[in-house]
Amino acid sequence: MATSNASSHSAGHLLRNFIGGEWRPPESGLTRPNRSPADVSDHLGDFAESGGPDVDYAVAAAAEAFPAWKALGPLGRAEYLRTAERLVEERAEDLAVAISREQGKLLSEARGEVRRALAVIDFTAGEARRLNGVTTPAEEPRTLAYTFRAPLGVVGLITPWNFPLAIPMWKIAPALLAGCAAVFKPSPFTPLTAALLTEIFADAGVPAGVLNLVQGDLAAGEALVTSPGVAGISFTGSLPVGLKIQQAGAPRLLRTQLELGGKNAVLVLADADLDKAVAAVVHGAFGQAGQRCSATSRVIVDVKVKEEFLTRLVARVAGLRPGADICPVVNEQRMTACLDAIAAAQETGAEVAVGGARATEGLPEGYYVQPTVLRDVPWDSEIAQEEIFGPVLSVIDCDGFDDAMRISNSVRYGMSGTIFTRDMATAFEALERFEAGMLHVNRPGVGAYAHLPHMGAKLSQFGPPECSPQVWDFYTEWRSACISY
Ligand code: NAD
Repeated sequence: MATSNASSHSAGHLLRNFIGGEWRPPESGLTRPNRSPADVSDHLGDFAESGGPDVDYAVAAAAEAFPAWKALGPLGRAEYLRTAERLVEERAEDLAVAISREQGKLLSEARGEVRRALAVIDFTAGEARRLNGVTTPAEEPRTLAYTFRAPLGVVGLITPWNFPLAIPMWKIAPALLAGCAAVFKPSPFTPLTAALLTEIFADAGVPAGVLNLVQGDLAAGEALVTSPGVAGISFTGSLPVGLKIQQAGAPRLLRTQLELGGKNAVLVLADADLDKAVAAVVHGAFGQAGQRCSATSRVIVDVKVKEEFLTRLVARVAGLRPGADICPVVNEQRMTACLDAIAAAQETGAEVAVGGARATEGLPEGYYVQPTVLRDVPWDSEIAQEEIFGPVLSVIDCDGFDDAMRISNSVRYGMSGTIFTRDMATAFEALERFEAGMLHVNRPGVGAYAHLPHMGAKLSQFGPPECSPQVWDFYTEWRSACISY
């Protein structure tokens, strides 16, 4: 658990919005307290709770800044990203401490998130030299025909709390490099990290209005989605909110990029290396207390090795210490949702193999849930089909490879898919059959690279992927040009 004095950061300007290059209080004067989920007595400050008027100011500031930022060109804009990258490196520990305090993840996990954000900005700045179009054959003589990318315009960036630095970075960096001006609306549960990141771009010299921060929740988010000045919304969060955003934007054909929930499976076949599989499942299911879109929440295990697998898994999970090896969940609502889901699963025939309750012993007052393994979970029960977003793992029986694939693909989500087998032919067949975006063989089902597309299939994703060169298909639109000479 982090204990540094990041509250000194949040004492002043960082509690406000950042609009048109100025730290401004919300029009309403309302604030929201920010308390650490690891210890609710740790108060990080009272942050702006914004609404429609603040969003309107921010969108207007972004619209004003957009033409000059666009005119600068990608190589000029990349210089600002390089400066911001250096500042993230310099402030890495402050950022990690802030993430750990307000989101609750372990300091080691927070440091990992900072490294991830650095990889993303590094990759994105390098892409400045690759924002190419193509030269095409022309239908007439003495004619040059080609394509190029134009920045989309003012974009709204709406983010969740589970990666409060990395996810905003993988939206802000490409938005700015593409030449868009942005209004960033972070999660109300992680406003300090959002403010620190915004401050970094301001300190890097990014011109006023190019990046604006509007803190708050529903009211600010809805105002951003419905603002006529916003050309696109990049959203990461839950499926229900993603659906609302899609519906709200539909009447004006709003461009959206929606990165949504997951119900990710690890398939453990009868020939799997069980120790490797157990280690990967523990990391995927209980790292960050299961609060990752790609978190392992189902293990689909062949009945031939089920008991042996469970024995080894339960032994490992029983040794995880809440507060030291596994972080709390982000708030009381998430904790209650986890405990309710465990109770409901038991009514469908599932049994708690380990965990199953709130953890309090030797801990400060916080939102700790014991790492929980449920066994004999029916594949079609609610806990096996819906996202929990907490340290709750369902173990589901299967009878061979085809049955494992059927159960794996039975959910409406499709974020990640993972298989453990020693037979590479089976592994390659699984890669073809998984209805999921991010696939793994004989390794944990979480983790991603800055240069690979971050995306899901089915209801986990809509629109172009994030990270990777595919991201430009959201932040830019194509132009075709024909020149006769
Ligand atoms: P959430 O959907 O509750 O909130 C996400 C953001 O949307 C917040 O900033 C919130 O203030 C805002 N918001 C809420 N209602 C809105 C509305 N009507 N209009 C506009 N904005 C609105 O999600 P969360 O609890 O912050 O995050 C957890 C969810 O995020 C999980 O479902 C998880 O799977 C998902 N997630 C997905 C990915 C991915 O890459 N696919 C990554 C991380 C998290």
